[in-house]
This record gives sequence, structure tokens and C-alpha cells, in this order.
Amino acid sequence: MSKIIQVSTRLWRIEIGIVNVYLIKTNDGLVLVDAAWPNKADAILEGVKQTGHDPADIKHLLLTHGHVDHAGSAAEISKRTGAKVYVHAADIELTSKGEAGYDGITVTPGIIPSLVYRYVIKPGGTKYDSFHIDKTIADGDILPFANDIKVIHTPGHCAGHVSFLMPQDGILIGGDICANVMGLSYSTINEDRAIARESILKVADFTFDQAVFGHGNPLKKRANQVLKERFTDTKLK
Ligand SMILES: [Zn+2]
Ligand SMILES: [Zn+2]
Repeated sequence: MSKIIQVSTRLWRIEIGIVNVYLIKTNDGLVLVDAAWPNKADAILEGVKQTGHDPADIKHLLLTHGHVDHAGSAAEISKRTGAKVYVHAADIELTSKGEAGYDGITVTPGIIPSLVYRYVIKPGGTKYDSFHIDKTIADGDILPFANDIKVIHTPGHCAGHVSFLMPQDGILIGGDICANVMGLSYSTINEDRAIARESILKVADFTFDQAVFGHGNPLKKRANQVLKERFTDTKLK
């Protein structure tokens, strides 16, 4: 059994170990956001069933980025459901190789990020099955098939990272823009933490009440303000 949280009337969080994938209900089928690690398709599709939906109705798979814990089962999910796959052009190099290596990344300072990197991220490997990308997505795109979700390019964690704003629901799906595991902080690894910070402040200029992430817990109230306050704090490293 996967752990499921219903975030709003048409958004569910499906926990797959320490990564979250999201299910969006539309008037024309289901949209999945992210695909967890390799070999997690069964767990994801089982989680979709637990929300009360039929996995065969998954029409689209949106990827926040190409890391192995978000794109790992994309090949299997698209094969089994026929879902079209979308990713930002800057992460195609990662996804088409089927390997999102961590060259050039830095680990966020502090004992917890160093432990997470050493014991979770590194042993997790970087390889997964590559998959066909049906369409690239770019900053400012509005996706009519996903309840008019807005694509916001949020590089820094990696070059092709995007966040998805659900304006009508007042929710941001932030991916690994930051994490809220043991408090709200930077993701454990980033290609460029200064750019990641700019991206967080960029999304914080939009209006949304809740924010959900690839790792950790949602922000449930005044989320854009909470992000702005946290990441303008110069003491945060
Ligand atoms: Zn990532
Ligand atoms: Zn991640």
C-alpha cells in the first residue's frame, strides 16, 4: 500500500518511499506528475487505484526534471498506460541517455544533506530506462489538458527543472525546487544553489496558498509568502 494524501479536490500525493508523485484529475482523464525511481511503476499505479481512479485513464506524464528519482519509471509508466511524456528541453540530455548523473552538483552544507547524499542519493545510482518524449515544455506554457496548469522554468537544482502552478486551485507543484523534509530548506543537491534560490523567489511571486514538493511535506497556508520569507533569509546556506 502506498501512502496517499488528497491535497485538493483534484490533486493527490502518492508517496513512493522518500519521493512523492502527484495525480491530477481533469475532465478528460488523469495526469501524473513524476515517476519516482526505476521499478516503481507497480507501486505508482497501485497508488493511483487507491485514490479511486483507473490507471488506464492516465493520459499524460509531466516530469519536473530528469533525475533518477523522478524519471526512473517514466519508460514503464508510458509503456503500460500509453501516457504522453513531457519534459523541459534542457533535461532531454539527461532523459534520453537514461542517466541523470550528478556531474557538477554541489551538496548543500550541513550534516543532514551530507548524510542523505552519502547514504541515499549516491547508492541509489543514476541509471534508468530511457523513454520517448512526446513534447517539450517551456516557461510560461499553459497546458489545457492539465486543468490549465502553468509551467514555470525553475533551474538551479538542474537546468531543465520546472514547477507547475495550478492557478485555479491555488497550488504549486514545486518538484525539487526545494524540499520540506526536516523543515523547509534547499534540496540536498543542486547544480547551482544561487540559481535555485532565484528560481524559488521567482515562483514565490505568483499567488498560491499551498505548495507540494518531490520530497517532504506540503506547505498548507500562505505558501508563496512562506517560501519568500525562508529563502530571502541570508542566514540560510
Ligand atoms: Zn532532483
Ligand atoms: Zn528528487
